[in-house]
Amino acid sequence: MAEKDFRVRMDITLPPEAQNYAEEIRDALTPFLQHGIVINEGQDNEERGYIEIEKCGHRLVPPVPCTVIAKWVVGIGRVI
Ligand SMILES: [Zn+2]
Repeated sequence: MAEKDFRVRMDITLPPEAQNYAEEIRDALTPFLQHGIVINEGQDNEERGYIEIEKCGHRLVPPVPCTVIAKWVVGIGRVI
């Protein structure tokens, strides 16, 4: 490669009452997965992009781990 790729990273936690925003972000972003590339496909250092939606328990008292409720992977599609 002679030119750098673009990489998009995002991590936004939204409160329960903003579920519609979470769904809008999900619906806006998932169509772009089809244009994502896999870096070093099939090798030990493979990098494959993904979009994950989690239920986050970090503000609960006591905090509990996040749970992945939906996941899309570049070149594979929805896996959860
Ligand atoms: Zn969390």
